Amino acid sequence: MISVWDKRKEVVEVSRRLSELGFMPSTSGNVSVRLDERRILITPSGVPKGALQPGQVDLLGLDGECLECSLKPTSELGLHLAAYRLRPDAQAVVHAHPPIATAFACAGVELPTDIAAEVLVALKTVPLTSFFMLGSRLSDSELPLDLREALLARDACLLSNHGALTLGASLALAFQNMELLEHYAKICLAVHQLGSQRHLTSAQAAELMELGKKYSRR
Ligand SMILES: [Zn+2]
Repeated sequence: MISVWDKRKEVVEVSRRLSELGFMPSTSGNVSVRLDERRILITPSGVPKGALQPGQVDLLGLDGECLECSLKPTSELGLHLAAYRLRPDAQAVVHAHPPIATAFACAGVELPTDIAAEVLVALKTVPLTSFFMLGSRLSDSELPLDLREALLARDACLLSNHGALTLGASLALAFQNMELLEHYAKICLAVHQLGSQRHLTSAQAAELMELGKKYSRR
């Protein structure tokens, strides 16, 4: 049985790796993990993720109530709580601002859905969802419909004019999904610069997404 302290250390380690990748500049981005059906751990507001300490990770109820908070929880708590509400299978949520994926989100350009086999297996497609105000509580009525649909159906999405969000059946998988999302965004940018795209057929894309179910990343 993993202790709460070990989970805090896991949050710190993943935050540090995301910071080192340049996905969480300054104090931006946030990481959370589900402890049980009632509680989560989440990174606090205002702390650079490379300098985070286990004791600074906040413990909250899924209703947003602080249970053990040494610092103010992230202002993007509402996004995490919405993800856990909609996805009982999600054990972790990562929200970050990886530069190339965020550039797509700010340009309003969807990532292509039919060019990279491995991405179709791991993430299926990556929806680009509508803008919502930072720091909002995101109750069910405030949640943009396309964000709700993306959270229900996918483990990764782009948040318009903002950044990216990934979920996972573990914190390690939510991290890997974010890493893969940025890698894919880089590939898409390079493909665009090359000026040519070789598309998979819709049958090939569907088969690859089926294959993803077999590997059961959700
Ligand atoms: Zn953000």
